[in-house]
Amino acid sequence: MDLGIEGRRALLTGASKGMGRACAEALAGEGVDVTIVARNAERVHLAAEEIAAATGGKVTAVAADITSPDGRAAALAACPEPDILLNNAGGRKPGDFRDHTHDEWIAALDLMMLAPIEMIRATFDGMIARGFGRIVNITSRSVKIAQSELSLSNGARSGLVGFCAGIAREGVAQNVTVNTLLPGIFATDAQREHVEGLVVTGGPSFEDIWAERAAKNPARRYGDPSEIAAYFAFLCSAKAGYITGQALLIDGGSYPGTF
Ligand code: NAP
Repeated sequence: MDLGIEGRRALLTGASKGMGRACAEALAGEGVDVTIVARNAERVHLAAEEIAAATGGKVTAVAADITSPDGRAAALAACPEPDILLNNAGGRKPGDFRDHTHDEWIAALDLMMLAPIEMIRATFDGMIARGFGRIVNITSRSVKIAQSELSLSNGARSGLVGFCAGIAREGVAQNVTVNTLLPGIFATDAQREHVEGLVVTGGPSFEDIWAERAAKNPARRYGDPSEIAAYFAFLCSAKAGYITGQALLIDGGSYPGTF
C-alpha cells in the first residue's frame, strides 16, 4: 500500500530506541524526512545514522530533553513545520501512590502530559493552515487498564488522552488528525526497566516475571516495536484522514473488554 506521505516532514520525540525509533524507521522507509529527538546525544546521532543507512531516508538527530522548554525549542528549530508529530518519551518507575511526592507528580505530568501538549500547541495550527497533519501520541494500555503500581502513568497519560479527545475534531476538516496509541507489553528497554522495578527481595526473579508477563498475554509474547510502527505509519498516512480522536490499543488482546 502506498501511504502517500513521501516528502512529508516528521518530528518524532523519544525516537532513538524502542518504539519511537521503530516509528521513525517506518516513516523514513516511506520517504518521509524525519527528525528524531532524545536526550542521549551519542545514541540519537547513531540511531539517525543507522535509520538513514537502512532506509536511504533523510534523518536529522536532535539531542534534547522534551520536558524542558529549551529542549522543545531545539526540536522545533530542527523541524519547524512538521506534517507529522509523534509524542513519545519515557515513563516513570512503578510504585505505591502513597510514596509519590508532589514533585514526582509534577515530573510525571511534565513527561507524559504537558510536554506532548506543548508540542501539539506549537504545531497544530500550522498543520491546519497547510491542510495536512498527523499527530500521534504513544502512551500506554494503562489508560484503559489502570494498574495500581502505575498511578503516575494512569493519571498523567489519561490527562493527555482526555486533552487530545477535546481538540481532535478541531482540525479534521483540514485533514489534521490526533490519535493515541496504547501499547501493551513490548520488548524494549523501557519494558525491561519496568520489570526491574517489579522485582522485590525474596520475590520472583527478573527472568520469571519477564516470562510470566509474556505467558499471561493472549498472544503469549511481547509485541515487537516494528508492529506498533506499522500501525503508527498507517495513522500518519494520507489514507487515515477519517480517523481522529481515537485511543487505540495494540496489546496482543490483553484488554479484556468488548469495546
Ligand atoms: P524506550 O525503548 O526506553 O525508548 C524511550 C525513548 O524516549 C528513547 O529514545 C529515550 O532516549 C527517549 N526519551 C526518554 N525521555 C525523554 C525525554 N525527556 N526527552 C526526549 N526523549 C526522551 O521506551 P519504549 O519501550 O519504546 O516506550 C515508549 C513509551 O511507551 C514510554 O513512555 C513507555 O513508558 C511507554 N510504554 C512502553 C511499554 C512497553 O512495553 N515497552 C508499554 C506501555 C507503555 P533518551 O533516554 O536518550 O532520552
